[in-house]
Amino acid sequence: MVWGDKRWYIVRPVSFWNGSCSLREMRASFKFFLVVAVLAACAGGHAQQAPPDSDLASITARGRFLAEYERSAWYATDVVLKFRPNQDVMMKFIARKTDTGWLVAFGNLDEANGAFVISFEGVQDPASGKFSAKAFEPPLRDTGFFLAAARGIELARQNAALQKGRPYSTFVLPLDSGEFYVYVLPTQTVFDLYPLGGDERLLISADGLKVLAREPLHRTIHDINLEAVSTSDAIAGIHSHAVADEPEDTDVFFVVRQKNPAPEFVGTKSGTYEIKADGSILRMK
Ligand SMILES: [Zn+2]
Repeated sequence: MVWGDKRWYIVRPVSFWNGSCSLREMRASFKFFLVVAVLAACAGGHAQQAPPDSDLASITARGRFLAEYERSAWYATDVVLKFRPNQDVMMKFIARKTDTGWLVAFGNLDEANGAFVISFEGVQDPASGKFSAKAFEPPLRDTGFFLAAARGIELARQNAALQKGRPYSTFVLPLDSGEFYVYVLPTQTVFDLYPLGGDERLLISADGLKVLAREPLHRTIHDINLEAVSTSDAIAGIHSHAVADEPEDTDVFFVVRQKNPAPEFVGTKSGTYEIKADGSILRMK
């Protein structure tokens, strides 16, 4: 699924009927209505069946999961740094959501690809939500979840279309079937510059050895400077999908990971959707 490579901002709408609009406000309103019209045009022509609400709820859940994954990795990294680990180990972490909170394992695949060798882990306390660090000496050899996930991450990186010279982050989302998704997303490397797009989701077999499906989610990468946006009239973002007929998990992730989340509108063949600041999705038409 790819998109139309287009993105705009929605600027703060003002009332035309209060009789007190400045020229600047009228321009802002004009832009607001313009983008709504553009989205309507995106949705027209080849209308597709809208996804059921349960699908939208699943997209929201997966998007929120990605944001939790990222946040947990940050907190775990902070506490593990006290052991002064080498950079190579710190770059290869895998987060797992358990019944008692998140656990982030830092390690490497062994040479035979037969174990994920864990040097450190960050564990979330279920009561406080805070993370504490643990170092393993000798390292822990995992042949279960983390081995499969590490194999899957390697496979996903090999199969995804990556832009040269650009760092990518991976996220592992386990499914009830035992299979799991690996997301490959451009890494945010500059504070307040949030990448949107250029991302893929791959379905990986339970043992981590096979790519079962590959789904490019958005083709183009837009680096959105939300610091600049927050000081302007913009109150939301807007982009169109040329082929995808529903919002993507990473659209929700893009919104909920922001420091001060701003809604994002997504125009598709099945209609226009608003991703609200909390990640829930509203179909507008
Ligand atoms: Zn999108």
